[in-house]
Amino acid sequence: MSRRPKPVPQMTVAQFESAFPDEEACKVYLQARRWPEGVKCPRCHNDKVFPVKSMPFKWQCYKCTPNQGYRFSVIAGTIFENTNKPLRDWFRVVHLMLASKKGMSALQIQRMMGFGSYGTAHSMCHKIRAALVEPEAKLGGIVEVDETWIGGKDANRHWDKKHHGQTGGAATGKTPVIGAVTRKGNVIARALSRVTKDAAERFVREMVSDKVSLLATDENHVYSGLTEYNRKTVEHQRKQYVVGAVHTNTIEGFWSIFKRGIVGSFHKVSEKYLPLYVAEFQFRYNNRQNPDVFGSAIAGC
Ligand SMILES: [Zn+2]
Repeated sequence: MSRRPKPVPQMTVAQFESAFPDEEACKVYLQARRWPEGVKCPRCHNDKVFPVKSMPFKWQCYKCTPNQGYRFSVIAGTIFENTNKPLRDWFRVVHLMLASKKGMSALQIQRMMGFGSYGTAHSMCHKIRAALVEPEAKLGGIVEVDETWIGGKDANRHWDKKHHGQTGGAATGKTPVIGAVTRKGNVIARALSRVTKDAAERFVREMVSDKVSLLATDENHVYSGLTEYNRKTVEHQRKQYVVGAVHTNTIEGFWSIFKRGIVGSFHKVSEKYLPLYVAEFQFRYNNRQNPDVFGSAIAGC
């Protein structure tokens, strides 16, 4: 039962086509990714399940459903269930979304996949984004924390520091996103309804270990209560951007990828969907060195 597929780094279209020539190849891959230790019942996680004779990729579980048995397929309980799209289309869309650093809009996906409706592409992309949400682990080392604003009338303008000090919310038409990043490591970002002292402190305490060697922020007062951290600030208002190890260039690099992705590839990001886009960009950033990024994405689906 250990037919674990070889990791495939950022696949070219040709590599994708040869790895996934048909539905069966996709099912084999999904099975191996979902259940690396053998097939488990999606309802009760029991691993003593029985293949259904003459029906490949279907199993029965008699633990949660003792008499007639619970019959499930390889897509049961995944985002691929209850759709009229073949698994191969789903895999292609995942591949396209991961292939570019800035992502791909639902409109581009629709065109490239030849889908009849934009709604299909839109809904597939959002389901995939939701599957990319990563489990949380606190950040350590040198951590930078910063906020940015998405949307509103400045949406097409290059982001600059002028929004610092705003709190966002309905009045400005902008939605704030707060993020923390370990230098050379992972980013954790969240959409907030407002950047308040409470929300900022809660985010940092939840996502960043208080044992960090340095917490670098800008001079925004919302971080001033985080006294248990070794926090150092750069004063952007005084055009100060780097003081020794104290800077927020890493998180600003992430914001820049995020903003260019949102502005360049996406028509309109409503506040409602912003957390899903944040999850997508966070996943791609955190898996930028992962040779098996496609497999990691499929495993979460
Ligand atoms: Zn079961």
